[in-house]
Amino acid sequence: MALVPLKVPLREVHPDSAGAALEGTSRPGAAPPKLRDMSDEAAPGRRTGGTETVDTDGRTTVVTGRVDTAPTTVGSARSAVPTGGVALHVKGRILAGPEDVRDELWVVGGRITYDRPATVRDVRTVTGWVLPGLVDAHCHVGLDPHGPVPAEIAEKQALTDRDVGALLLRDAGSPTDTRWVDDRADLPKIIRAGRHIARTRRYIRNYAHEIEPPELVAYVAREARRGDGWVKLVGDWIDRGVGDLTACWPRDVVEAAIAEAHRLGARVTAHCFAEDSLRDLVEAGIDCIEHATGLTEETIPLFAERGVAIVPTLINIATFPDLARGAESKFPRWSDHMRQLHERRYATVRAAYDAGIPIYTGTDAGGGLAHGLLVSEVIELVRAGLPVVSALNAATWGARDWLGRPALDEGAPADLVVYEEDPRVEVRTLADPQHVVLNGRVVG
Ligand SMILES: [Zn+2]
Repeated sequence: MALVPLKVPLREVHPDSAGAALEGTSRPGAAPPKLRDMSDEAAPGRRTGGTETVDTDGRTTVVTGRVDTAPTTVGSARSAVPTGGVALHVKGRILAGPEDVRDELWVVGGRITYDRPATVRDVRTVTGWVLPGLVDAHCHVGLDPHGPVPAEIAEKQALTDRDVGALLLRDAGSPTDTRWVDDRADLPKIIRAGRHIARTRRYIRNYAHEIEPPELVAYVAREARRGDGWVKLVGDWIDRGVGDLTACWPRDVVEAAIAEAHRLGARVTAHCFAEDSLRDLVEAGIDCIEHATGLTEETIPLFAERGVAIVPTLINIATFPDLARGAESKFPRWSDHMRQLHERRYATVRAAYDAGIPIYTGTDAGGGLAHGLLVSEVIELVRAGLPVVSALNAATWGARDWLGRPALDEGAPADLVVYEEDPRVEVRTLADPQHVVLNGRVVG
């Protein structure tokens, strides 16, 4: 049993708390994200009544008992969220914000409440240090290194993310239609960016719409309508004629495309490894840059001033030396460039953080990497020099705010993760969640 004493004095939060990372999360003048109506995510249904004893994993205290009579939905793959009764009591240390710590919450109808329900008794209780469901702000569901994958593989990808506590995914481009995931209360919530938009033969095969600049505005409009408030561009890629990374889109075209996305209520992000596309994209009004390894002393202040976020995907950048080695003979200049970007990756992220650029966690799973690696990315951000609380913020409170989704707020869907230790003190506790709660149900 891994019980957390209830009256443990709060440890000091790291002095560099998440304030810097929280700044700039709302961008004046930026198009508001298109929010999905979440009311449909919780289908009706309640847990079966009667006294019951549920076997536990033996690691965390779990008390169960009589629950109000209702049709059972528990255990079904397509099960609905319990509503109407008190399903769960969560206590210990509820980290509602970096420094907002509460003693307990209840889940009623799949949603969080801090008001003790009148009828609370004999409900299941879980205890520990509680974070909002983690956010993988850059992954791909329904995609593998070769292209689209069948629904059953996409389902496994989503479940793998869920089981490490990643309960909100920003899908940074997928050719697969994963809308069916939205009907599954047992799968993480996905915010989609439609399908990647790349220049012809300038991206991984089978991933993107591959088009030329005159078509960009129309394709951006199409993907803005298809997605959940985001559009994904491939901003730079190897130009085989040049033998190095080069920018994919002329400035005037990308400016018109971003304006069109904003007009349609979508934000725009772009894959960028190199230096030379960044200024144009930021000045054209882009909202976020993926990877952002090419940030320099010149562009960092620009990002900070405009509040343009980055999702570094450091666990993906770790593959650059291998990529460089593989292409050395054919593209030596590109290989050298990739190695340089890799070598300064931590310094780049740290400088971005110090300048106040909003940073969020993303794994790039579903491209070359497996799903379920989000905790490694949080640890990489700490390795790059972010204070632990800021790295947590990049994966929880801050990321949710940025994406327009609630964290552990009153009335929010109960998507949370319970840990044995204080993750602000021991970030590695994230690797061993005691319980994963999704839509108010303990799913792991
Ligand atoms: Zn990606």
